[in-house]
Amino acid sequence: MSNDFFDDLESDILWEDWSKINQDKRAETPDFSATIEDNYEFVKKAPIHTHIKESWDEEKLSNFNNTIEAPCVFPNLKPQILPPLEKNFTRIITIGGHNEVGKNSSMIQYNSEILIVDGWLQFPESTMLGAKYCLPDISFLIPLKDKIKWIVITHGHLDHIWWLKHILPTLGYPTIYAPKLTIWLIKKQLEDAWIWDKAKIVVTNPDIDWIFNIGIFRVEFFRENHNIPDACGIYIETPNARLVYTWDFKFDFTPSIDKPADLTKIWEIGSRWIDLLLSDSTNSLKEWFTQTEADIGLELHKIISETQGRIIIATFASLIGRIHQIIESAERTWRTVFLNGRSMVENVRIGRELGYVKCNPNTVRRLTNAIDSMPDDKVIILTTWSQWEEFSGLYRMAYGEHPIIKIRPGDSVVLSSNPIPGNERWVINLMNELIKLGATLFTKDGMDIHTSWHASREEQKIMINLIKPKYFMPAHGELFMRVAHKKTAISLWISDKNVFLTDNGSVIDIDTERKIRKNKFKLKLEDIIVDGHWIGIATSHIISARAQMMKSWVVVIIFKVDDKTKALLGPLKIETRGLAYLDEVREVHRMIIKKARTSYETTIKDIPDIEEKELIKIIKKDVESYLAYKIEREPMVVPSIITV
Ligand SMILES: [Zn+2]
Repeated sequence: MSNDFFDDLESDILWEDWSKINQDKRAETPDFSATIEDNYEFVKKAPIHTHIKESWDEEKLSNFNNTIEAPCVFPNLKPQILPPLEKNFTRIITIGGHNEVGKNSSMIQYNSEILIVDGWLQFPESTMLGAKYCLPDISFLIPLKDKIKWIVITHGHLDHIWWLKHILPTLGYPTIYAPKLTIWLIKKQLEDAWIWDKAKIVVTNPDIDWIFNIGIFRVEFFRENHNIPDACGIYIETPNARLVYTWDFKFDFTPSIDKPADLTKIWEIGSRWIDLLLSDSTNSLKEWFTQTEADIGLELHKIISETQGRIIIATFASLIGRIHQIIESAERTWRTVFLNGRSMVENVRIGRELGYVKCNPNTVRRLTNAIDSMPDDKVIILTTWSQWEEFSGLYRMAYGEHPIIKIRPGDSVVLSSNPIPGNERWVINLMNELIKLGATLFTKDGMDIHTSWHASREEQKIMINLIKPKYFMPAHGELFMRVAHKKTAISLWISDKNVFLTDNGSVIDIDTERKIRKNKFKLKLEDIIVDGHWIGIATSHIISARAQMMKSWVVVIIFKVDDKTKALLGPLKIETRGLAYLDEVREVHRMIIKKARTSYETTIKDIPDIEEKELIKIIKKDVESYLAYKIEREPMVVPSIITV
């Protein structure tokens, strides 16, 4: 069998090249001067690895293909003025993750230097009509742009790295610090946006005792578990504060391809008298431990080895550990894995290049019609099924829209990930369709084919006990989750008054005595949405108009008028959508035309020199009020005047 999987996937920088670049830079950049008083013997001077490409390929940009995503410009919102930060205080601003699951993002400032920890991306709320996804509101950071020189990223999940392509140009390309796999996933995102060449990148390694001197900050990455390799927590030190961000984490002592969390290092960091711990609250109400990935691998292998026909496994492309388990099981059962979905193909490519996914090159192939020539019991189709957009791989298969795969009796479909909250109905419909087509479904109900990637209560206790913080801030969770996490912290030894339940936009100041207090001022952070190539706020008039159209339909009335006399020329034209039922449409149109004509003529008579804009407003209001009274419906009326 030929292996055409990697043939058309170029990789312009191999890992070896990276190491070489880093090695060269290490030799050239021995500037590790400590910027703060160093009273820790364990602090190592960290080599600073920098890979900076100066050139910006104008030609590439001019050949820009519209189908490729362009960088967007962040909306110019009215900047909010932050209260002044006192000299030698440390300030933390919770940008996201303190009112919901996900959205982890934080800003740390000491005097005139700012470091950002993670950013986020999330599905739009149902009210954000037309939006593809939401981004953090960093408008308050734009005036501080010159102070922001660094971003540290904990892990490579899409919701933690996608935002970079929108935010980096706005913030002037701060240097990104992240572990190896995360950087490679970021690379792909930035390449898609044509800004990779401008990015400044430092590859970190949680397995080495590096403490990076990043301006005034000292930063150290430590290994945790999540559901993607190289997930890290971060220790951040300023001259008057020592902080630990766990962000998304769990402890998994038998992860699929990752190493277990580095408990020794976490304990060692905890011995530095940590002032504040910000930690993942998602599973605060779940007792005991989160199930290990090893169990999931066993169950998946059981299904794969006992199934006769084609197997279609749907999971998230970022679950590289899970993907590796499936590929490994395919090899043991002599099946070939066909990858469906661009992100699935890309992530497997990256996983293989970095050595996270190990397999015979012939085991994995891009999904093509070649699958038809293989026996059913020799294939696995590994597909995306993100509910992000309706044209995900599995969706298209279920609704008969996939160009290659038609679901048929004898197929087995394994859903090896959780529906994203809010998309449960979408998933139920999908499952119904698959069953109607004759597929056998395997879901996590009653089967260990998916596990959470967040810590349950006992793991949260271990983290708090190892870090031993004076202050604690539950993060990444709805309020009830963070309250449960607070209770857990208090049940250990943290005092009630030292636990902060904050909101997004909260401002936390740490004084020179290392005391923490919540500022009375709170930022008002907008919902920022991306709608195609436009970034704006969810309260934009366009979104409101869409909401109104959805709720109350549309009436377009066209007036043809004489340019000089303003007299109406001929009958009005009318188009309505969703307003009238078939047997009433004629009558309703007649009423609208009559009312609109009267409104126009009366207004022109009363105010002959009225501006067109004002005239339209009056007609719109008149007709809308009339319809609300006459037929108890409230459509959006759009008058349009054509002068001839
Ligand atoms: Zn995550």
